[in-house]
Amino acid sequence: MMISLGLVLLSKERSESLLQQMALRDVLTGILNRRAILEQFSKDLERSRRENAYLAVAMVDIDHFKQINDVHGHLAGDEVICHCVNHLTERLRHSDSIGRYGGEEFLVLLPGTSPEGAVAVLDQLRASLAETPAQFGDASIAVRISIGVCSVMPDDGDTTASLLAWADAALYEAKGLGRNTLRLAQPCRLRSAAPFSEIPQTTESS
Ligand code: GH3
Ligand code: MG
Ligand code: MG
Repeated sequence: MMISLGLVLLSKERSESLLQQMALRDVLTGILNRRAILEQFSKDLERSRRENAYLAVAMVDIDHFKQINDVHGHLAGDEVICHCVNHLTERLRHSDSIGRYGGEEFLVLLPGTSPEGAVAVLDQLRASLAETPAQFGDASIAVRISIGVCSVMPDDGDTTASLLAWADAALYEAKGLGRNTLRLAQPCRLRSAAPFSEIPQTTESS
C-alpha cells in the first residue's frame, strides 16, 4: 500500500515536472519559447553585470521566409525553421542559449562574448547556413538569415529591453543592407559617430 502510494506520488511529481518543462519549450522546434528565453536573458544580464563580463545578444531572422512558405508550402516552411534551429543549436556553446522569439525570429544569448567574438561566431553561422540548404521532399531550399547583435559589459543603465532594442535596430539595418548579413550595434554609451560598426558586409545571393 505504502509502495503504491509512493509510486503514485513519484509519477505525479514527474508529470508535473514534465509539464513545467513543456511550458518552457517551443512546440515546433523544442528550443526555449519566448517567455523562457526572456527569463534566461534576465538571468544572464544580472550575472554579466555582477561579474563585469560581456553579454552578447543577437536577433536572428530568416530572410524572405514568407516567400519560402508561398513557394514550397507551410510544412516546408516549418521544416526550414527546424533546419535553421538545428544548424544554430549544434554550433553554439553549452553556456549559450537560443529561443524562438517569434515566427521565424530567434533570440541568441552568448554570455562572456565580446563584440569581436560575437561577430566572428555568428557571421560564421550565417555563412555556413547559407551553404547548407534545407531538404523537404525533393526540394532543396536555400536558407539565408540576417543578424543584429550587440555585446556589452552591462552597467546599471542596461536592461533586457534596451539591449533587445539595440539588437533589433541592428537587425533592421542588416535587412536594409540586402539581407544575408550581420550588423553589430554600438550601444549609445560606447558609440562615437555611427550607431553601427563598419564590418565587412556580404551581399545577398539567392
Ligand atoms: P524578411 O526577409 O524581411 O524577414 O521577410 P520575411 O518574409 O521573412 O518576413 P515576413 O514577416 O514578411 O513573413 C514572415 C512569415 O512567417 C509570415 C508568417 O506567415 C510566417 N510564419 C510565422 N510563423 C510560422 C511557422 O511557425 N511556420 C511557418 N511555416 N510559417 C510561419
Ligand atoms: Mg524574416
Ligand atoms: Mg521576422
